[in-house]
Amino acid sequence: MKVLSLDLKRQYESIREEINKAVLEVLANQSFILGPFVESFEQSIAKFCHTKHAIGISSGTDAILLALMACGIKNGDEVITTPFTFFATAGSIARLGAVPVFIDIDPSTYNINVKKIIPAINKRTKVILPVHLYGQCADMDAILDIARANKLMVIEDAAQAIGSIYKGQNAGTMGNIGCFSFYPSKNLGGYGDGGLVTTNNSELAAFIKILRVHGSKPKYYHSYIGINGRLDAIQAAVLSVKLKYLSGWSEKRRLIASYYSEHLKGIPIRLPKIEPYNTHIFHQYVIATPHRDKLMEYLKQQDIETVIYYPLSLHLQKCFEYLGYKKGDLPESEKASNETLALPIFPEITQKEQDYVISHVKNFFSRL
Ligand SMILES: *Cc1c(COP(=O)(O)O)cnc(C)c1O
Repeated sequence: MKVLSLDLKRQYESIREEINKAVLEVLANQSFILGPFVESFEQSIAKFCHTKHAIGISSGTDAILLALMACGIKNGDEVITTPFTFFATAGSIARLGAVPVFIDIDPSTYNINVKKIIPAINKRTKVILPVHLYGQCADMDAILDIARANKLMVIEDAAQAIGSIYKGQNAGTMGNIGCFSFYPSKNLGGYGDGGLVTTNNSELAAFIKILRVHGSKPKYYHSYIGINGRLDAIQAAVLSVKLKYLSGWSEKRRLIASYYSEHLKGIPIRLPKIEPYNTHIFHQYVIATPHRDKLMEYLKQQDIETVIYYPLSLHLQKCFEYLGYKKGDLPESEKASNETLALPIFPEITQKEQDYVISHVKNFFSRL
């Protein structure tokens, strides 16, 4: 049996007619840039996320970039974030000439360790940028308390966490701005690049809408230097169809995750830990073991695809050498990059496939 880490074709098959119809409607309309399809998607996703404003953006990366620009982040400013995330989180900070200040993670959730934030704050600190990794929210109450006490803005990287809940609140709505990605492999994936910014602050929303169109308002009059950061209409049409199914898909992911956890109990691996106040959406199901590389190789021999998110902590990336971090500086993040492994998870995975994965993980450890 072959088990893919993600099979998008199955999802497309299940909604093919609706999707095709929606795309053809955009083609018939020839309205590709902003316009009615984007606006209607923005309204429905704002409702889904329980936020006042939702702004369609060209990608999750641009969503973070625009959020930082809207907060006035510039050369020399410092932004506190996690080193255990996709590159875009820190790349967007550095792109603006600002300094990503990496804080080590909590090894049980892989999210930023809130106890380590305060010592990293100084006069140059402007923003805290937590990531809700794998679909589980970071400890936002602690982060928001620190931000309030130090007059900092909070931008949530919720790229992996659409629909995730923290103490009754939606991911991306607790800080000043939330950022989402519709990269095809995300829980709500487009058929190309796409992203979203959410905010309850009407001034920030208006500013981001201006920055999204090169900083112009009215057209051809530029008070700011923005970017081309628009979500395109075909993506909006696809996403509008898929949004209706998202809650059901997230529920399936939770069931798949609990099936893994139930059947992998007793094996010497670390299973995902869900904080009692969180509703996880399991963008990824990630286990950890010091035997990670051998396990991954063994599973590959059995035709089981697994992925490492992420193999090199951001503070050790070549492009960030100038920041001066060295190996050993952020030990939990480094350990996670050496020990974590994402098992196949997507709403359409069958129990047979899951059983196959489980039995081979067990086989590996019984032969160790
Ligand atoms: C996917 C992702 C991004 C970037 O989103 P793109 O749409 O690919 O630009 C940013 N941060 C995190 C945590 C992500 O997982």
